[in-house]
Amino acid sequence: MTTQVPTNKSILFDLDGTIFSMSSTLLPRINKYYDRPVIEAVPMIEHMQQTGGIYPGLLTVNSCYQPRLFVEQQIYPQCFELINYLIDNQFDVWFVTMPLQNYHTKSSQQEKIAQIQRYFGQKLAQHVIFSSKKYKIPGLYLVDDRPQHPAEESKAQWKAILMEQVYNHQIDCSRRISTNNALTDMIQLLNKDAQMRIIDEKQNNEHIILRRQ
Ligand SMILES: [Mg+2]
Repeated sequence: MTTQVPTNKSILFDLDGTIFSMSSTLLPRINKYYDRPVIEAVPMIEHMQQTGGIYPGLLTVNSCYQPRLFVEQQIYPQCFELINYLIDNQFDVWFVTMPLQNYHTKSSQQEKIAQIQRYFGQKLAQHVIFSSKKYKIPGLYLVDDRPQHPAEESKAQWKAILMEQVYNHQIDCSRRISTNNALTDMIQLLNKDAQMRIIDEKQNNEHIILRRQ
């Protein structure tokens, strides 16, 4: 069942680097500036600013500001499968993404909505929320690739699921899924959490019975 606003049962997905491959558009654009291809070490902007100084950073930012960055991104095939599986199984799916903080904000938002409409239809295109405070959005889970993501769980209603990427391997998070195996990973995770809830409920009931005795 879908709702007008996300609830504590909704499953939230970040877009860039989570279900869409950021490197599918950003890397080819950046590589145009270099003789040797840049390796996939992202967050690209952070990496290049730290290692290469201002000029590579500028090239990266300039690449981000060119139109069609988002609308040309490729979806990870397994994430496409996963989201369709969740929709088919009546989960309430939402997309929560940070707005691009520059003059390009409006068109980048339109590009992101167009991508969701293209892959998941008009109805889901109404389930896109632009927010930099994702912990304020209710949900059962938020799937996100940001290294800071698991740390925000304590402020949020949702449980953090980390979408594994090269830049977050070191991050501690008990719930993780991968772009190559997203559907199977997510089904395992949902089953495991459901079992944990059954065990918790059973233990709670036993405690109540013990207290009554
Ligand atoms: Mg992301």
